Amino acid sequence: MGIRVNYMCENCDFEFQTDDVMFHINQDGKLEEYLLLMMTCSNGRGSKINGYVFETICLNCGKTIKTYRITHNEYDQDEAFEIVKHALDEKNDMILRNGGYHLEIEDYAVYLTDYFGDGYEYDFDDYDSKEDAIAEAQKEIDRLNEKLAESMENTVYNIVIGDEENPLEIINCPNCNDELPISFEGQRECPKCGGLLLGFDMLLD
Ligand SMILES: [Zn+2]
Ligand SMILES: [Zn+2]
Repeated sequence: MGIRVNYMCENCDFEFQTDDVMFHINQDGKLEEYLLLMMTCSNGRGSKINGYVFETICLNCGKTIKTYRITHNEYDQDEAFEIVKHALDEKNDMILRNGGYHLEIEDYAVYLTDYFGDGYEYDFDDYDSKEDAIAEAQKEIDRLNEKLAESMENTVYNIVIGDEENPLEIINCPNCNDELPISFEGQRECPKCGGLLLGFDMLLD
């Protein structure tokens, strides 16, 4: 079971979404991220490195900080750090090159798939033609990929080592070095205007 929180500012158009996200390094050395759900809770079992992913915003410099906190590791710390860094660079390069969202055409529908592997279906029957459905999905993919590239440009990445007993909760911003909590959880002040932030929880299962 995962919790998604949508934060909204009372005062301006600021919005931010946080999810319970885990990662692991798979057998091919690739970094995989997934929402923590009932069906995914055994993902990563047996992998030599796994942990949690947190996103927050630095109130000092405004960058989004995406932190990969290694909680289980069977290498020495430096090596684990290098493995995750390499896999993360590779993944980000690939997303920037190919986009994070893809189109998959089946017999009766076209699917828009995101980098979590979740999809949205465009049923051909709901459109005048198969081509219309594909064009509609492609338009949405272009829009989402553009938004993703934009948000990646404003994101700095951070890899830290913690463990289940002593999780690391405070990090330094990789951009400006300010100290801040690893996650956005419980944030009440809008990073954009200083107004009051409201958080809306949603249970995902
Ligand atoms: Zn900063
Ligand atoms: Zn605001």
